[in-house]
Amino acid sequence: MPSSARTAGGVDPRPGHSQDAGRPAIMLDSARGSSASRHEFAGFRRRFLITVLGAATVWTAAMVAASTMGWLSVGPLQTYNNIAFFFMALVLLVMVWRWPGTTRPAAIAFCTGGLFLIVAALFLVPEDPLRMLLFFPGIGVIFLTLGARAAWVATAVAIVAFCTAVAGGYIATTATGVSTFIISLFFTGLFFHTFRVQSVRALETIAAQNEALDEAARRDPLTSLPNLRAFRNAVEAETTAPNGGAPLAIAFVDVDFFKTINDRYGHAEGDAVLVAVAGALRGAIRAGDTVARIGGEEFAVLLPATDIATAMVVAERLRATVQATAVTIAGEITSVTVSVGVAPSRPPHASADAVLRAADLAMYAAKAQGRNRVIPAPAAA
Ligand code: GH3
Ligand code: MG
Ligand code: MG
Repeated sequence: MPSSARTAGGVDPRPGHSQDAGRPAIMLDSARGSSASRHEFAGFRRRFLITVLGAATVWTAAMVAASTMGWLSVGPLQTYNNIAFFFMALVLLVMVWRWPGTTRPAAIAFCTGGLFLIVAALFLVPEDPLRMLLFFPGIGVIFLTLGARAAWVATAVAIVAFCTAVAGGYIATTATGVSTFIISLFFTGLFFHTFRVQSVRALETIAAQNEALDEAARRDPLTSLPNLRAFRNAVEAETTAPNGGAPLAIAFVDVDFFKTINDRYGHAEGDAVLVAVAGALRGAIRAGDTVARIGGEEFAVLLPATDIATAMVVAERLRATVQATAVTIAGEITSVTVSVGVAPSRPPHASADAVLRAADLAMYAAKAQGRNRVIPAPAAA
């Protein structure tokens, strides 16, 4: 059958982009995996921010309530400060909770707003000299939500503001008090800096390991083709895709008399033949098709959006390509053949396993009829 034939189904059965054609399912997974650490860290940042905002809301509410009831002797300026902080934290908490996309702007608003309120308190609420202690958790929050650069800038702002407040007489402390504050704040920053760097590194390592495990779980190590699990996923992706209304076909490819090669020349030679067959199949499929090694000397090819007539053309080309591929066994150049069963599936699609079983049965029919041939399964599959 001519390989350039365009068939009734309107699908060009010619091969194309053969290097990548067997890999769509794997590439999808890799794309997901590569952003996993970023995604994980974004989730951590959001949960952390929700905790901080929740704590700030409850704490400032308690402070405002206590000063209103007269249990806390603070001036009106500090109460206004607390009320402003309460509303800011509450609004941002609702934002981050309801709309996760607002996490970063909310973090920026909370950190700059919080920094401004604490700095303002140094000058406006001199009766509360311990207020500067709020810089310590504040710097930690900035490290974990906005990153190291923003946090070191905030640390510098805190130190300058504190020194200015001391120089202006707003805070009564000694030179030892000033140096203790600065050194403590610096080491707090250093601690959070290290913690942040280490946690990001740990998340990246875990994400990379997960990606490698995911890849290993979906790829056959001998031929580098997707394995049965990845093949099933690829079929399911087709049958549940928006165009899941399209017909598809699966070709089941089994090497003929493979056991004889193993028995006569050894397992290693058999493996080399499997690699050669895998390469031939990968080179012969079309862009969008998926070839997988689903068993010892068994391969499956998913042909999306393909009717049975086109699938038979493709399968015949696969068979002919394998036969025409030079295979070296024990130093001798020879060739092997394959028997192919082709099963179509129309919407509503049966399960991947059901279509594979139908293709497997058709492949057995090809064996029974003499091997090195392509046989279609009944259309009912
Ligand atoms: P048929 O034409 O009927 O398919 O005959 P066959 O010899 O190919 O069929 P059979 O199923 O009897 O043989 C398959 C052989 O494949 C048996 C098994 O030892 C071998 N095999 C399975 N996995 C591997 C593998 O990873 N490497 C090698 N070298 N051989 C394998
Ligand atoms: Mg077999
Ligand atoms: Mg076989």
